[in-house]
Amino acid sequence: MNFLEERIARDGIVKEGNVLKVDSFLNHQMDIELFEQMGAEFARRFAGEQITKILTIEASGIGIACIAARYFGVPVVFAKKSQSINLDGEMYTVEVESFTHKNKNHVIVAKKFLAADDSVLIIDDFLANGCALRGLIEIVRAAGARVAGIGIAVEKGFQPGGRIIREMGYHLESLAIIDAMDAESGAITFR
Ligand code: 5GP
Repeated sequence: MNFLEERIARDGIVKEGNVLKVDSFLNHQMDIELFEQMGAEFARRFAGEQITKILTIEASGIGIACIAARYFGVPVVFAKKSQSINLDGEMYTVEVESFTHKNKNHVIVAKKFLAADDSVLIIDDFLANGCALRGLIEIVRAAGARVAGIGIAVEKGFQPGGRIIREMGYHLESLAIIDAMDAESGAITFR
């Protein structure tokens, strides 16, 4: 087991409905030492890629993306899930279904923060059905930019997102891939 798998095995909680709770270290309280390790590992796995920008989605992706960005020396852009008065100018907007909230969000990025010559690393906390990622990919493509890679903290390998994204030909790296989990016993099996 790697450092993230060990942490999930120790502190992750399996909930009904194929949901893994990691709120004590990843997406509510955040363990920044762990994020540093994740950033270093993403830097190692994408060492061959020329990356000019990291793109993530609010809220849980932001912390991971920001720490990772220090290893790449690039800015972070996060997609917003709602329109606000702070969003102005032209925007890329795609519709994304939420795994955790079971509703649809509009995901929005201002056009001025993604350019055709950008080479983008997409980062997110979880990969389940792949809806969030496909939305972010669509935004990068709409900008005419290139998806240089996709870095995920936790992939639930028993859900189809990872397979779909890899079949699309993207360089996807997940730091922990869960092949099975059981809410009753709490057991988690890593790939
Ligand atoms: P997808 O779009 O791939 O179906 O789901 C990805 C998004 O749903 C992630 O951004 C994450 O916020 C949320 N998510 C999916 N599965 C889980 C899970 O098991 N636990 C938690 N905490 N979030 C999840």
